[in-house]
Amino acid sequence: MRYSALQILKNGLTGNKGWKPVWRDPEPKKSYEVVIIGGGGHGLSTAYYLAKNYGVRNIAVLEKGYIGGGNVGRNTTIVRANYLLDGNLEFYSHSLKLWENLEAELNYNVMLSQRGCLLLAHDDGQFDGLARRGNANLATGDDAVLMGREDVRNFVPYLNFDDARFPIRGGLLQRTGGTARHDAVAWGYARGADMQGVDLIQNCEVTGFKIAGGKVLGVETSRGYIGAGKVGMSVAGRTSQVAEMAGMRLPIESHVLQAFVTEAVKPVIDTVISFGMGHFYISQSDKGGLVFGGDIDAYNSYAQRGNLPMVEHAAEAGMALMPMIGKARMLRSWGGIMDMSMDGAPIIDKTPVDGLFLNGGWCYGGFKATPAAGEAFAHLMATGSKAEFASKFNLNRFETGHLLDDEGTGARPNKH
Ligand SMILES: Cc1cc2nc3c(=O)[nH]c(=O)nc-3n(C[C@H](O)[C@H](O)[C@H](O)COP(=O)(O)OP(=O)(O)OC[C@H]3O[C@@H](n4cnc5c(N)ncnc54)[C@H](O)[C@@H]3O)c2cc1C
Repeated sequence: MRYSALQILKNGLTGNKGWKPVWRDPEPKKSYEVVIIGGGGHGLSTAYYLAKNYGVRNIAVLEKGYIGGGNVGRNTTIVRANYLLDGNLEFYSHSLKLWENLEAELNYNVMLSQRGCLLLAHDDGQFDGLARRGNANLATGDDAVLMGREDVRNFVPYLNFDDARFPIRGGLLQRTGGTARHDAVAWGYARGADMQGVDLIQNCEVTGFKIAGGKVLGVETSRGYIGAGKVGMSVAGRTSQVAEMAGMRLPIESHVLQAFVTEAVKPVIDTVISFGMGHFYISQSDKGGLVFGGDIDAYNSYAQRGNLPMVEHAAEAGMALMPMIGKARMLRSWGGIMDMSMDGAPIIDKTPVDGLFLNGGWCYGGFKATPAAGEAFAHLMATGSKAEFASKFNLNRFETGHLLDDEGTGARPNKH
């Protein structure tokens, strides 16, 4: 069913009885041309673009839980294209362009809101860094506005300017950045993939690989063996575990990242703001909740839940930046398991196993990457070659030294 204003009117007048489930619930077939492991944003978008751009029809997405139950539905929804280094620049620039057309592409409201994204600087060094980053964004064709302290004050007057522990020196605004409704992105891609015949199989955990003569032949799952011509791993924080089943050890750690939301308050924050002196980023949801996040837990973990030290850390950073946040009551917090690669950048590449492909290592930034990562991974799986806009996310860069360390913090997953 194609969604339209007319459909809403028609269904509204007929008791909303005409809506159909958005995707089917098929039994797994014995084999598929392509199996994607992981029904998150990346797995679903990969399946969608494989079907749409390359005409592959015989595809299954295997999800151990439910569609959208992973990080795609747990993140703080920030979308932006203001990275610094070649490799990241062209990739996120391309992704933002795909976002801008995504609702029309999917015929689904992902609630993209280009409300702007402001990175703050609190000293001269940071300010110079933002100027350099802004120039890189402009040179890539993306927008960037360098703001002095008074410009920032006019834009977001509720920050702590006069009594701050970390005085605000300036900021870099990307007006085309913003937020999107995260689970709608999963549902939109799921619907789009299903409409092209992709089987979305939930409650189907991949527990092993069948590999013979260096080639992948299929996957063992909680619902039996499924043969596959090609297999793509798109399992976010579980990448190192799933890859291990295929005999691979990756330069990736898993950490928990948490997000927080307050009770709904009247509209107050109409952009996305990132603190420069601590890891803290905040926006306001359409329902009114202040949505914010902080650092990953410093230690490795597969526990998909929050904990109190991080609540304290995020609340403390929020109070340093905008003391008014202290008046709001926190409603919920949750955690997602994230891949952290050794340079903070992702991997979209072939693996040493023929027919087995890897999309992982997305760290803090994989939601904004969802459209482009799917497109690039689909391109790689269909053609065997890298999409130009994702040509630097190589697995062997950790051997060759061509790291993509946008933060400049070295091989320190907890610092990216
Ligand atoms: C709290 C938090 C805040 C974040 N904020 C942002 C943000 O503001 N902006 C941004 O760009 N990024 C953000 N991110 C990062 C972003 O959410 C992730 O990088 C991105 O969602 C990862 O890709 P995905 O959507 O495919 O992951 P997921 O949705 O996690 O999908 C992976 C799926 O694989 C499944 N899976 C795992 N193992 C198996 C198996 N063996 N068999 C079958 N299925 C399996 C999982 O169940 C899961 O559903 C945030 C992450 C978190 C946790």
